[in-house]
Amino acid sequence: MNIPDIIIAVDGYSSTGKSSLAKKIARKFGFLYLDSGALYRGVTLFAQEERLISRLGRIDPALEKALEGLDLHFGSDGRLFMGARCIEQQIRSMEVSSQVSPVAAAPFVRAWVDGKLRLFGSRGRIVMDGRDIGTAVFPQAQLKIFMTASEEVRARRRYEEMKAKGESPLLEDVVKNLRERDYIDSHRDTNPLRRADDAFELDNSEMSFEEELAWVQGLVQGKFGIL
Ligand code: C5P
Repeated sequence: MNIPDIIIAVDGYSSTGKSSLAKKIARKFGFLYLDSGALYRGVTLFAQEERLISRLGRIDPALEKALEGLDLHFGSDGRLFMGARCIEQQIRSMEVSSQVSPVAAAPFVRAWVDGKLRLFGSRGRIVMDGRDIGTAVFPQAQLKIFMTASEEVRARRRYEEMKAKGESPLLEDVVKNLRERDYIDSHRDTNPLRRADDAFELDNSEMSFEEELAWVQGLVQGKFGIL
């Protein structure tokens, strides 16, 4: 398929499979894949290590200034680095997951992350997943997908994913974390999670991965007249 230089935004609730689908689309179309949530997770890890966030999730206002010196970037294989250190594994821990949504609700954190995301996306040919890519980061994105799935399916996926990585979470903790994040993400004042008016909704609760990809390909073919 000869795809134009477009931006594809994949937004949706936690653990709906956004990153798996976005990566697959990127590989199929020869686009760059960017995981915006990784940057919010990286900022959260930084705040925790610098003791700029309390156990209860209260953010120290000094975090805003500290971000000026923070170097977060993606390696060529897509893993996130803080300076020279690969932090890909740490940012996926339950400790980071449990504090990332309050951190991501801070307007100055969003502004810092948005600056980086817009730079990455300035040349198009990119698939970016997150919560506000189609509504706030790239409202001009030519293709927007909004993903949902039942809570049960999402919790089970997250649980299996964590177990496969050698962690031993309790299913009830996973459910609690998903609910909390979805609530905070969709109720914050700055760029809350919501479906863009022009986004196509994909409920993948009962779809196989191949079916999802075929659905996206159908969309792209229909929208851009490519056969
Ligand atoms: O996508 P992932 O689950 O890794 O994102 C982690 C958290 O980062 C989300 O729960 C949300 O709080 C925040 N996030 C966001 N806006 C984005 C991407 C992620 O607020 N575009």
